[in-house]
Formats: sequence, structure tokens, C-alpha cells
Amino acid sequence: MCGIVAATAKRDVVPILIAGLKALEYRGYDSAGLAVLEPGNLQRLRAKGKVRDLEALQATDPIAGSTGIAHTRWATHGVPNTSNAHPLVSRDDVSVVHNGIIENHEALRAELIAAGYAFTSETDTEVIAHLVHAGLDRGLSLREATRQAVNRLHGAYAIAVLSQREPGHVIGARRGSPLVVGVGEGEHFLGSDVQALIRETRRFVYLDEGDLVEITRERFEVFDTDGKPLSRTVKTTDLSADAVERGEYRHYMLKEIFEQPEAVARTLEGRIAGNRVLPNIFGVDADALLSKVRHVHIVACGTSYHAGLVARYWFEGMAGIPCMVEVASEYRYRQGVVPAGTLFLAISQSGETADTLAALREGKTRGYLGSVAICNVPESSLVRECDLVLMTRAGPEIGVASTKAFTTQLTALALLVLEVARINGMDKDKYQRLVAQLASLPRVIAEALALDPQVLKLAERFVPKHHALFLGRGAHWPVAMEGALKLKEISYIHAAAYPAGELKHGPLALVDEDMPVIAVAP
Ligand code: GLU
Repeated sequence: MCGIVAATAKRDVVPILIAGLKALEYRGYDSAGLAVLEPGNLQRLRAKGKVRDLEALQATDPIAGSTGIAHTRWATHGVPNTSNAHPLVSRDDVSVVHNGIIENHEALRAELIAAGYAFTSETDTEVIAHLVHAGLDRGLSLREATRQAVNRLHGAYAIAVLSQREPGHVIGARRGSPLVVGVGEGEHFLGSDVQALIRETRRFVYLDEGDLVEITRERFEVFDTDGKPLSRTVKTTDLSADAVERGEYRHYMLKEIFEQPEAVARTLEGRIAGNRVLPNIFGVDADALLSKVRHVHIVACGTSYHAGLVARYWFEGMAGIPCMVEVASEYRYRQGVVPAGTLFLAISQSGETADTLAALREGKTRGYLGSVAICNVPESSLVRECDLVLMTRAGPEIGVASTKAFTTQLTALALLVLEVARINGMDKDKYQRLVAQLASLPRVIAEALALDPQVLKLAERFVPKHHALFLGRGAHWPVAMEGALKLKEISYIHAAAYPAGELKHGPLALVDEDMPVIAVAP
């Protein structure tokens, strides 16, 4: 998951592009680059490594321009090095940045080589630059050449394209990877997300799958895959630039851990009152749909999958509703069975998780009652494509390892389970007691966070370890799985999670004085 920024303005856009790339660093990447265009002059800077390496190049050998595109790359085709870094160029004319994977790049590459194009990278992306160039040579406009090029691509992409022949224009397109348009005064931008552009504007257009957009200083226009104009509304985001600053914390993950009480309070805000879950918090038709639910299928990836596994214990234990939880990348590639009256529940922080979206689209062909999204990004594809939605309101999560997103997902899931349980005749006292407990969560989380100094002390004992086991029973087993995932992602220490009762059936063989065992046993 890498990043794209593009801009066309009356000023030099290099600082905008570099600041945008920095705001996208949290997505992970291995190289970075940018290209700027002034009539007759296309210039490019690329570096393996960090955005600060790109900045160092810019400091020694500065470039400037009023139209530009920029990229952080997470290599999928070709090693991370300078010649594979984006932007990729065709004949010193067309320049492209791309997020995603072009599955039919080999066939296109062969065709373009036969047509006389020389390739300078090992990437799948370079075919796009040459396809657009070939279109321009056939007399097409940049927009039309890009449209025809993307219509030939199989796979996933968000792109931004420049050409010497149309200075001041940037074409963007998306399918399977996110892209937003930033609307300014006499300037326009493209970005992988709002955070990349929040310093420049608060007005955004959230592009849909298959959208193509042309930006100039004065305007933006959106088109469908046939080239027909589309109307897309400009929305003002309430995200503030502060929300993405690190403040007093050493790193974003720590900041986000400590934001949990507030984030969970926001998830509950306006959704419970007088010891009950308020009606229609999932949408106006929620009651009609939820009253028909006989089964639940939860589909998600990574941390969201773990949240789903916790919710399974709740759906079955509290609401008496059978629940299956599946990893989205498995779900989408197998033929599962959907019993009558099954609800499809998709969980994703970003709402752009490719496997989860593909699973939802696949699920829509399998005869579900309807779909519910639990998601943190209101304008995301997942939110737009599900029948019912509950936003987690965690705020931006910059840290790679999910923290407040996980706990707010659990909070949102608890609201959904309680709603389904109530409809299914849960004992009123029990229901009210549970809602009251939910309301007390922010305070309880704050109490747990106050243990930080003790946790820090304990953590020191784990520094020299290379492995760890996490154990939990019931709903705490998926929490143990989430703990093991955190340790792997953040410390590169190998960790595995087991249901507590399984320790004796094998993994115990690994337990010696060097193996920490962490039991989730509240
Ligand atoms: N597939 C392209 C490459 O390997 C783009 C990867 C990305 O999304 O950064 O260059």
C-alpha cells in the first residue's frame, strides 16, 4: 500500500508533493520519486529509501514546476531501486505514477516492445506510460489516451499521468486502489488519501471505482470508463491537520494507544442512551433487515478479522445467532454455503482493503439478506457499497499496527450484537446491564492505560527474546491472536497464539526458560 500525490497550481508544487509523500509514509514504502513539468521541460527525481532521501536530492540539485506527480513505492514487480522507482517515463514525454498491480503487464510489454518502445524498468507500471504515449501519437488527448490505456489494464490501479503535450493537466484514474481529488482555489490535487492534501485544502471529491479525472488549475472533471462525464460532489472534511500530528508521543502507535478512551467514547457517542442502543444507528432500514437475520458471516483481514472472531463469541453467546468468520482472501476464492437469512458483515479500518471489497462484491452474488460495514473511513468504497454502516470514528490511524481501530471495531461490533440480541428477545435486565457496561468502557480503558509504567517495566524483560506464545480462552483467544500479530509487526519477534487449552497439545514442547508465554486472562 504505497502513495500518490499530484498537483497543478500557479506556484512551485515540489514542496506540496514532498509534504504529501511524508503524510503518506505511514502506508509503508521502499522508494520515492516525483516529476514536475513546465512547458518543454519534464524533470524527475527518484530515490531508493525514504522521502528524506528524495529531499536530500532536491536540496543538492533542486527542480521546480507548477504541475507534478509524486509517489512512494512498495515494490511488487522489480526490486526496489532507482530505475524501478516511479514516476516512470515514456520517451521523455509521458510520466506516470501507479499504485497497485497490472496483471496482464507481460502481454502488454511484449506488444509495446514490438511497437518499438524501450523499457527502462522491471515494473508492471511502465506499460501504462508507453500505452498512453502510443495513444497520444495516434492523435488522442491525454485524457482519452489515458482512458483507452486503463481500459486495457487488468488488475488494480490508482494512477496519475502527465504529458509534455498538455502541460498543466494531470489525469488520474482508479480501480482497486484509492484516489481522491483535492479542490483548491486556482489549484487542484490528487492524493491516495485526504491526509496527503489536508495542508492544502479541506475540500475533496472521493472518486469511485472506474472513475477517471482530469485536473487543471481551474477545474476538475470526472468521467466513466466510456468517457462520459460524471457529476461528483465536493465534500468538506472535518479532519484537521492536528489530528495527524504526533504531539508529545514518541511515535504514532503510542499516541494512538492512548487515544483509545476518547476514540471508543466517540464510537459510542449518540448511539446509546438510557441503557439502550438507539434505533437506526446502522441506517434507516436497519430494523427491517436486522430482524430477519438468522446467521452472520463476518469477512475481514488482519486485525479486523480478529475483531470479527471476537464478535463470533458474542453473536452466538449473547444473541443466539450462528456466526462464521472468514479471512476475506479465503472467502473470495472458495465456494461457501450461505444459509437463508444470512447477514454479510464486512470489517475494515480503511474501507479500501482489496480482499474485503472483493469478498463483498462476490458475496453480493451469493444470496445474502444484506450487508453491513464496520469501517473507519466514511467516504470509502466499503461504506458506499454496503446496505448498512456503522462508522468506528477512531480518527486517522497512522501507526502501521492497528490499535484504536481494533478497539473501536470491537465497540461497534458490540453495538451490533446488542441490537440483534435485543431484536431476538434478549432478557431486558441483561441487555441493559451490558449497555451500561459498554458506556463505562472509556473509563475502564483509561484505567488499563494507567498501568503503563508497570507494563514498561515488564516489557524490558522481553527485549532479548526471539519468540513468544500468546494464549487466551473464548473471546480472549482472538485477542491473544491480535497480540501475537502486534508483536510480529512491531518488533519483528516471532509470535504465535493458541487457545489456552491447546498449549498441552503440542506447543508446550517449545516452552523453556527462553520462551515468554503471555496469557490474556482478565
Ligand atoms: N506494481 C508497481 C511496482 O511494483 C507499483 C507498486 C506500488 O503500488 O507501489 O512498481
